[in-house]
Amino acid sequence: MEIDYSKHRHVVVIYPHPDDESFGTAGTVVKFREAGVPVTYLCGTLGEMGRNMGSPFFANRETLPEIRKQELIQACEILDMDLQMLGYRDKTMEFEDVQLVADDLRKRIEELDASLVITFYPPYAVHPDHNAMGRAAFRAIEQMEPGKRPEVWANAISNDREEILGKPDVVIDTKDVFEKKMNALRAHKSQVDGMLKRFQGSSDAQNEFDLALEYFQYETYHTVNFD
Ligand SMILES: [Zn+2]
Repeated sequence: MEIDYSKHRHVVVIYPHPDDESFGTAGTVVKFREAGVPVTYLCGTLGEMGRNMGSPFFANRETLPEIRKQELIQACEILDMDLQMLGYRDKTMEFEDVQLVADDLRKRIEELDASLVITFYPPYAVHPDHNAMGRAAFRAIEQMEPGKRPEVWANAISNDREEILGKPDVVIDTKDVFEKKMNALRAHKSQVDGMLKRFQGSSDAQNEFDLALEYFQYETYHTVNFD
């Protein structure tokens, strides 16, 4: 499909965890940046309750927040996107007051003059934090003035997504920019090392690249209309 990336003013990505951006939307971000469109990531938490500590371990419960913060900053540098860390607590997004989170998001979306928001599609985003963040983002946009709302692309992940939502209408082939996506993924060393190793069973870098491409080549979204 042909997408006119350059028509957008500013793209705002809203997810709860460091690494959500690299798995879900890194290739899309690179395409917008190549078209000269600014992109800002509003990252909900530092993923500080994560169970992955690197493989072999190099993080612990105390050091993980700072390590993940640095990984996130590095991934955003690779993807050439701005970063705002929202400071919510990992694994507890669902207990935040959704209206307070929505108010915070709306203020930032309006300040950045976003023409497109990319987020998770609740409740089809598998992890409670993903769904909670998507819910707050949806509410923020719903409460904006009609006519001023940005376009919304939402990631649905659950197995029943196509049954309920139909096929995604935005499908982005990231193959031509996959090297950058791979580098962004690799920046999240504490999270992806074990996973990339599981993909391959060996440490052959080309093999790792090919397998990651197989899993993550296509970034898909459902357009959500709030008008
Ligand atoms: Zn996540």
